[in-house]
Amino acid sequence: MSGIFGVISKGDCAETLLHGTDYHSHLGTEFGGIAILGEHFTRQIHNISQSQFKSKFFEDYKKIKGNKGIGVISDFDEQPIYLNSKFGPFCIVTNGFISNSEKLAKKLLRKGISFSEVSRSTVNTTELVAKYISQSRNLISGIEKTLEAIEGSCSLLLLHRDGIYAARDKFGYTPLAVGKREDAWAVTTETSAFPNSGFEVTKYIEPGEIILINENGITQKKPGTNKNRICAFLWIYTGFPASSYEGVNVEMVRERCGRFLAKRDRNMEIDVVSGVPDSGTAHALGYAMESGKPYRRPLVKYTPGYGRSYTPPSQETRDLIAKMKLIAIKEIIEGNRIVVCEDSIVRGTQLKNFTVNKLWNAKAREIHIRPACPPLMFPCKFNLSTRSTHELAARRAICDLEGKDIEDISEYIDHTSGKYKKMVEWIRKDLGITTLQYQTVDDMVSAIGLPKEKLCLDCWMGNTQNAT
Ligand code: SF4
Repeated sequence: MSGIFGVISKGDCAETLLHGTDYHSHLGTEFGGIAILGEHFTRQIHNISQSQFKSKFFEDYKKIKGNKGIGVISDFDEQPIYLNSKFGPFCIVTNGFISNSEKLAKKLLRKGISFSEVSRSTVNTTELVAKYISQSRNLISGIEKTLEAIEGSCSLLLLHRDGIYAARDKFGYTPLAVGKREDAWAVTTETSAFPNSGFEVTKYIEPGEIILINENGITQKKPGTNKNRICAFLWIYTGFPASSYEGVNVEMVRERCGRFLAKRDRNMEIDVVSGVPDSGTAHALGYAMESGKPYRRPLVKYTPGYGRSYTPPSQETRDLIAKMKLIAIKEIIEGNRIVVCEDSIVRGTQLKNFTVNKLWNAKAREIHIRPACPPLMFPCKFNLSTRSTHELAARRAICDLEGKDIEDISEYIDHTSGKYKKMVEWIRKDLGITTLQYQTVDDMVSAIGLPKEKLCLDCWMGNTQNAT
């Protein structure tokens, strides 16, 4: 994933840009970048895999002057990309996952367009977007045609002498919101970037909508569509608690998720409700409020030493850090029946090795795991590209139960079926816990509160609502 932020102000915007971009640090771990337009463009990109965004840019931003700028925290590509096009020079940042990037790159290569940026994948997708846009007769039609050609998702901010063009991907998988304060306008992935800089949300950009923000305010350049399929996982795990998407706050959704989980456990005897920090915390608070049982912290995270943007290079080191990060409090655990709310179970290995084992070692009496979403069944094609099908705990269970990989897993998706129950039991045994009960799709959708057809639920249900 990535997070993007842009600002236009009456005076210098560098400090607001630094903080606004920094508030997206939970969304990416590889590169941070900013571009500011004053008398001319200034662009800075740093690798942030071994240190935090703020520490890399803290000295730079004081030397940069300009009243409009864009920033990005990125998991894939080095951004922003600068391009001197026939529409004049511009800088661009993107957020999303372009699944047909190679096909689009080949199309441009055939036209004689070259690529210069080095990327982990074959092409830097932000450079691809910049070059695709520059093929059109003007910037608006360039952005429109590019978003149309992209499979997957891509929202973008384009910094130009006209102002900042902001466009959300055509199905709205990735969010984008506009904020205003007395002397400035801003646009952001995470609305949590707004309050401490004095911005208030004035608009959630619609899927496929293109706007221009400049000193005069907002001008709509292309209306949005009603084909919204915003990522439901933003509320469950990836989003920041203080953020809202489509007007729905993340923390409130997580609390409602926890309440739904607790409602299904009415007759269960427990002593302690807890969550795997950080994203499991709000789910657990909701569970505790609904069940009337105390929320406590049997496992605390040593945040000072292990910020989320620190990504060690080897799996061995990553495992070591995952092990060292959570510290068990024996006084809260020993002899107690503990509910542990977790955002989701992906592979299940970290949950087993670094949460469950610590609770058993500290002599928990029972451990009841409650994921806030249903079993993950499919990798993401639009946003999070890191997991593959065979890694998922549910798919490993299905493969073992069936004796092979199977194509049609619809019975395992249906939480009322016998196969679903066998799959959950397999995962429970594998984790070595007392009980395991997942959220249902319908309860998760109710917790979010948007119509089901307006959400992407492909992680759990596959591509049932064709995004065409
Ligand atoms: S597949 Fe999952 S992670 Fe990807 S956009 Fe859809 S809900 Fe979000």
